[in-house]
Amino acid sequence: MHPRQLLQARGLAARKRFGQNFLLDNTAADRIAQAAVAGESELRVLEIGPGTGVLTAALLRAGARLTAVEIDRGLAAILREREDLAAATIVESDILTYDLHNFAAAGRWAACGNLPYYITTPVLFALLECEPQPVRIVVMVQREVAERLSAGPGSAAYGALSLLVAYRARATRLLTLRPAAFYPRPQVDSTVVVLERHEHPPVQPRDPGAMLGLIRAAFAYRRKTLVNALELGASPVPRERTAAALEAIGKPIGVRGETLSLDDFSRLADQLY
Ligand code: SAM
Repeated sequence: MHPRQLLQARGLAARKRFGQNFLLDNTAADRIAQAAVAGESELRVLEIGPGTGVLTAALLRAGARLTAVEIDRGLAAILREREDLAAATIVESDILTYDLHNFAAAGRWAACGNLPYYITTPVLFALLECEPQPVRIVVMVQREVAERLSAGPGSAAYGALSLLVAYRARATRLLTLRPAAFYPRPQVDSTVVVLERHEHPPVQPRDPGAMLGLIRAAFAYRRKTLVNALELGASPVPRERTAAALEAIGKPIGVRGETLSLDDFSRLADQLY
């Protein structure tokens, strides 16, 4: 059934404040679900924002052991009543307050979803920082966000998210969909990205948490030099210390974080912490 009819039958309508753009393309849903499950039947999958259930049904078809977290009460009720989705556990919750660590602690898992655009970045940070890590994350995001995920140093799209992705996973693009593939139509194209967890991280800083904190601090003030940005951070680093660390890794003192690679941040963190 078309999402509009499904909603209208309940006196509901798509809610912009929850970033609701429902996927209409079942073939795309199957491709996304198969990329998430990757043939590993019974893999535990967390779906973020199941909406009217197009991807939820596809994930079940692909063999996932599925938990789906939906913030919208009306939609959660519709999903719970659907017999074809009876095998899924539907949780009515905000994904940003959901106990991700508890879910992750129960064993191998993957994350999947057509993400609501207004919380794409915090959701990706939460998934990428979660321990134990998901084996893969397969998500639909706005095309410009997909570019940020695989951007390199010096480009406008490069930022803390690009570095966190590079540290945790190998990013590839699965497919791009035009606005007509959704109801209601979003303003921009959407891209599905697959983030496959690294078996071995590409860098091995002594204190990974300190490196991730350093990256966040560097990009909190991306127009400033690294020396200034770290001095202004939540845990301020004295200018002389940052300058000495930069010198030790062979970088000029006036450098900005946006020109440093993951390897640079790893070596810098080892100097600073
Ligand atoms: N997966 C569905 C599909 O592809 O048709 C819906 C995708 S829609 C872009 C995003 C979904 O996320 C909506 O169902 C929306 O209600 C839900 N959502 C929005 N904010 C959320 C949050 N904070 N926690 C959980 N779900 C949320």
